[in-house]
Amino acid sequence: MSKIVLDLNPSRCVCCYACVVACLDQHYNIEESGPPLRRAVRIESKEGKISCVSVGCMHCADAPCMTACPTGAIYRDEETGLVQVQSSRCVGCRKCRRVCPFGAPQFTEEKKMVKCDGCLERVRHGLLPVCVQTCPSGALSVREEDGLERTERVRRLLAGEEL
Ligand code: SF4
Ligand code: SF4
Ligand code: SF4
Repeated sequence: MSKIVLDLNPSRCVCCYACVVACLDQHYNIEESGPPLRRAVRIESKEGKISCVSVGCMHCADAPCMTACPTGAIYRDEETGLVQVQSSRCVGCRKCRRVCPFGAPQFTEEKKMVKCDGCLERVRHGLLPVCVQTCPSGALSVREEDGLERTERVRRLLAGEEL
């Protein structure tokens, strides 16, 4: 299987939050809830244009969270390239959160880091991540790894520099 990344096209996003809800539904249930793993963020460009950017983990090629984690809790799935967390190794120090440009690491009440896992099990079975499948406007997509270009572009989007 080739390494995949999630990508987004904010010009298509209608800010309906369907991706956010689908992700919550996929990962939690009535007995077990937790922080959202995907957010839809309203961004205002320097020219005053309002857009929506749907952000989860970008599964960065450089993944600064992996380098920052002192316990090795964050690792890359070899088959898919998706960045994963081994909750039992997390000591809740939040170093991953401080270095993540996208605010992806979230924390449970037990102070364990959780984040978008790229819907690893679905992808392993040849399915799309549920947020990508659910988006009604095609704003989310998966494609093969493309180095650092994509994460740089999303950094600029979130800074309102390129909407
Ligand atoms: S948690 Fe942040 S830094 Fe780590 S891979 Fe995801 S987006 Fe990149
Ligand atoms: S909070 Fe957990 S996953 Fe994040 S850097 Fe610390 S030990 Fe690693
Ligand atoms: S890829 Fe899966 S875990 Fe990540 S934001 Fe989308 S639905 Fe949530």
